[in-house]
Amino acid sequence: AMQRYASIRDKPATATCGVTIGLHMNAGLMADLPSLDGSGAEGVGLFRTELQFLIRNHVPRRGELAALYARVLDAAGDKRVAFRTLDIGSDKVLPYMKRLDEPNPALGWRAIRVGLDKPGVMRMQLQALIRAARGRPLTVMFPFVAQFEEYKAARQALLDEINREEKLGHVLPSKLEIGAMLETPSLAFAPKQFFDMADFISIGGNDLKQFFFAADRENEMVRRRYDTLNVSFLTFLEQIVRRCAESNVHLSFCGEDAGRPIEALCFAAMGLRNLSMRPASIGPVKNMIRRTSIAEARAVIDQAIENGDQSVRPAIMEWLRGNWA
Ligand code: PEP
Ligand code: MG
Repeated sequence: AMQRYASIRDKPATATCGVTIGLHMNAGLMADLPSLDGSGAEGVGLFRTELQFLIRNHVPRRGELAALYARVLDAAGDKRVAFRTLDIGSDKVLPYMKRLDEPNPALGWRAIRVGLDKPGVMRMQLQALIRAARGRPLTVMFPFVAQFEEYKAARQALLDEINREEKLGHVLPSKLEIGAMLETPSLAFAPKQFFDMADFISIGGNDLKQFFFAADRENEMVRRRYDTLNVSFLTFLEQIVRRCAESNVHLSFCGEDAGRPIEALCFAAMGLRNLSMRPASIGPVKNMIRRTSIAEARAVIDQAIENGDQSVRPAIMEWLRGNWA
């Protein structure tokens, strides 16, 4: 599939209206890294760190993790890698962790909630990341932040570990970026101070959509019931874009929907300027963006909203067919 888009690989995702979208890739394995060059991604917008915890029957050691993260940074070269701290619980259960009997694991003790309540593993992981960076920039994002306090506490944990490493005489990262994943609707309504403090925000669209519509992303009965291009959801995304713009904080979107060309186009039309997706999606998404006008797509969306459409998909599809006829 990547072969097909080889001719545009090194070209920017610039739409015919002149707007450029940054395309980044999602990764989780060392084996994903060669795709950085192959796909033409600008960087790794989401590095999921769960896999190294899931494939073992014990918590990985700090040294092992630091070595792996260093190899990821080596392979990425000058490109930015956003490491997401451990996002376990819900659908991702560690074999060596006592399984809690939670009635609603997706709404339960997961991700940053575990990291803040039982900080040992998260702090070890943060130390590993700091050691891996050694004189290079380090970008860390915390999953599933639902309120400002959680971001503050997680950020402080990372700053504490930086201080500790400094006292131990270790070489620190040359630059530190600390972000939050916006995966619960509540965070979109956090105080302005949250948006001012975050170095960047990344929308976890898979979780955000499931909580926005109260529709389990794992449940086939309801999974596809609500269209991502539903007017309510797109309007909500635009509000997030606006809040980030007010605080001048960098925003990206890293859920699976970012890798679908029509969804990507509509996200761009709502003001998103950075998308992170599976490497194989970069070509198709770039092709879509380069062939269309984001400004015109926006006009089509506005008309569909005015018409009271439930989803903008039919209107966008019709417009695209007319465009490319
Ligand atoms: C998301 O929720 O959109 C996301 C990127 O994280 P994950 O799919 O790993 O929950
Ligand atoms: Mg998520």
